Amino acid sequence: MTAQPPPEHPDFLWRNPEPRASYDVVIVGAGGHGLATAYYLAKNHGITDVAVLEKGWLAGGNMARNTTIIRSNYLWDESAAIYEHALKLWEGLPAELDYDILFSRRGVLNLAHTLQDVREGVRRVGANRLSGIDAQWLGPEEAAEVCPILNVSPRSRYPVLGGTFQPRAGIAKHDHVAWALARRADEMGVDLIQGCEVTGFLKDGDRVVGVRTSRGRVLAGRVGLAAAGHSSVLAERAGVRLPVQSHPLQALVSELHEPVHPTVVMSNHVHVYVSQAHKGELVMGAGVDAYNGYGQRGSFHVIERQMAAAVELFPVFARAHVLRTWGGIVDVTPDASPIIGTTAVENLYVNCGWGTGGFKATPAAGWTFAHTIATGEPHPLNVPFTLERFTTGALIDEHGAAAVAH
Ligand SMILES: Cc1cc2nc3c(=O)[nH]c(=O)nc-3n(C[C@H](O)[C@H](O)[C@H](O)COP(=O)(O)OP(=O)(O)OC[C@H]3O[C@@H](n4cnc5c(N)ncnc54)[C@H](O)[C@@H]3O)c2cc1C
Repeated sequence: MTAQPPPEHPDFLWRNPEPRASYDVVIVGAGGHGLATAYYLAKNHGITDVAVLEKGWLAGGNMARNTTIIRSNYLWDESAAIYEHALKLWEGLPAELDYDILFSRRGVLNLAHTLQDVREGVRRVGANRLSGIDAQWLGPEEAAEVCPILNVSPRSRYPVLGGTFQPRAGIAKHDHVAWALARRADEMGVDLIQGCEVTGFLKDGDRVVGVRTSRGRVLAGRVGLAAAGHSSVLAERAGVRLPVQSHPLQALVSELHEPVHPTVVMSNHVHVYVSQAHKGELVMGAGVDAYNGYGQRGSFHVIERQMAAAVELFPVFARAHVLRTWGGIVDVTPDASPIIGTTAVENLYVNCGWGTGGFKATPAAGWTFAHTIATGEPHPLNVPFTLERFTTGALIDEHGAAAVAH
């Protein structure tokens, strides 16, 4: 934090103010969701007495580690509504934030390799169309037209039987997204405070009135948790038990290549997903490690399987070399859907459980979480995603659309 910023880096990354004694709203976690929440609190609700407290550096958690897939083709109406709201927001963000977030609508192809995959995919295409979401079912040859290096040979071990395709889906550049949101929030008066770990909560009876941090106590009218991967541990310190488990999730990139992969391809069944970054790396995601953990690294055998799957789907990758691998910590709910809402503790709000797929939701998560914090009530889009569903049983099971890490 003491070094001088390189000229091309925005100065809010380096300023790092001391936390003030009190704020109207404290957001815990400066990942994409925390930053988007701060931005929409200021923009949509005029609430600018806000601090975003980050234990590490700005957007150095999952926001820096994800594979940036953006799509909205989930199965259930509730999910389709919130993810489609996000997709529409993504479309306007570069102009709104005046920042090139390299949002590239290159389409996302979800492959089917079994009859069950085909049934799930065809059903989801139908459901998506009824929700007004662009969705197509492609046969193997049509899939190969979208991605010519895809192996659609009927002789492969798990032949491609077809796939769902969402043309408006794509990728964006995650650090640009974080900086764009942070810059606007900073301009509107939000304090972005790095190296400030929230270690506990200040309570007055059943009410949260502030947070304990590694840089002292901070009073707060309202506290919003946006600490993906650490949500259950943190909430427990405030007396709230969340139905969330943390798992390592990995990805890797190859060295740089000329453009060979024009879209995004995902396969639940052989379990890999691939896109090509703007710079040229092949970006490949793996599945979650099965054990619970908080280390930002995963097991080697997961990468090994992921590579085997990638080479089967794209034989040309056998000549590519891995440049680097990394892991993040994602928090997973029983129905593979997120939690955004109030808690039993007054003034404490949670946004968590986005599992392997919360990057795509960043603007909508921020939009709805900001609304929930500002008004004390969930936004219509996150009413179905509050904690109540775990007692009413109205779960939103998205394992079919969210099973592969993405
Ligand atoms: C390998 C990988 C690939 C992924 N690929 C995709 C994808 O292609 N598409 C997609 O939609 N999603 C993807 N995801 C999921 C997505 O990254 C997450 O769902 C999303 O980033 C979570 O929201 P966030 O950005 O706010 O999280 P984070 O960036 O993790 O932000 C949470 C922040 O909270 C901070 N924090 C935690 N505890 C404390 C504390 N006590 N005090 C202060 N700060 C704290 C952390 O340091 C962190 O910076 C992927 C995730 C991983 C790991």
